Amino acid sequence: FDLRNEDLKDLQELGQGNGGSVKKVEHVPTKTFMAKKIVLIDAKPSVRKQILRELQIMHDCHSKYIISFYGAFLADPNICICMEFMDKGSLDGIYKKIGAIDIDVVGKVALAVLEGLTYLYDVHRIIHRDIKPSNILCNSRGEIKICDFGVSGELINSIADTFVGTSTYMSPERIQGAQYTVKSDVWSLGISLIELALGRFPFSESVSDDSDLSDYEGTLSPARPGSLSLSGLPPARIKSKRNSTAKKDKRKSKGVSLQGGAMTMSILELLQHIVNEPAPRLTPEGRYPKEAEAFIDSCLLKDPDDRKTPKDLLKDEWIEHAIVSDINLEEWASTF
Ligand code: ATP
Ligand code: MG
Repeated sequence: FDLRNEDLKDLQELGQGNGGSVKKVEHVPTKTFMAKKIVLIDAKPSVRKQILRELQIMHDCHSKYIISFYGAFLADPNICICMEFMDKGSLDGIYKKIGAIDIDVVGKVALAVLEGLTYLYDVHRIIHRDIKPSNILCNSRGEIKICDFGVSGELINSIADTFVGTSTYMSPERIQGAQYTVKSDVWSLGISLIELALGRFPFSESVSDDSDLSDYEGTLSPARPGSLSLSGLPPARIKSKRNSTAKKDKRKSKGVSLQGGAMTMSILELLQHIVNEPAPRLTPEGRYPKEAEAFIDSCLLKDPDDRKTPKDLLKDEWIEHAIVSDINLEEWASTF
């Protein structure tokens, strides 16, 4: 493919993230649907070119658990990244539509993510760095693939310079400033799997069901990766996109407070919670298979030295069940 912006016809807006927006487009000469991610980058031309060069590694990423890459180009002042279009969207959108996801499907998701992470690391030495439900995509063939991994160091830096989603899928060691390792991705996977199984973000358990914290909890504080220190962090507050006034009192609880009808949450409190409190678990106990509970507990060991790598976790009992499970994801995907 020699991708040119002129050959791409905009069809539909798929979503907005911190880094930019994603559109469904058609590559007219080949009649191929693609997802085009537009990233606004405030950087020198030399840095943009460097980013583009680094993104080319994605041409060499071939795995059924990784989104295919068609190409990237500059469309000043943006960088456009064209990738495989996944018609069922991301898992956050899916659970928000259909509710909590069946634990056997969640097992297949865990398997796909572990396979994808193992491929990226073993073959390319790439650490994903941003595992969360919005970066796990599904299509109507029932395939599950990961996207938005950290291939370009320059891109990571540039986004860090403008805005950073220091996400709350972040592991305790990362919050405390340690370097990323594959084990940080395992933590993020654990949080994501609980979110899918429960149908809500796990750190918002004390908040009433109808509130949708996960909309903004996923991407919170402004800080450069690696330089985040709890003591130096301002107690920034994030406002809910919605201005709900109902059920104000019910929602007031640990880590979450309300002001003037808009829900606000202290980032500092949440990050401190991740560092200081026991990790979340699949609850209530007994509702889910004990192998699933044990797997998630092992993803969420707070000390990264105790946590396994994605490759080792592929041998976990629950994952072995997922490998042989005959649950039909194509059929599942046809229900929404
Ligand atoms: P963040 O910016 O915090 O990472 P995000 O992952 O939601 O959040 P984007 O990566 O910009 O933000 O993606 C926006 C939305 O576009 C996603 O939530 C997803 O639903 C959709 N999307 C992204 N890539 C694809 C794709 N290849 N096919 C279909 N939909 C996609
Ligand atoms: Mg994304």
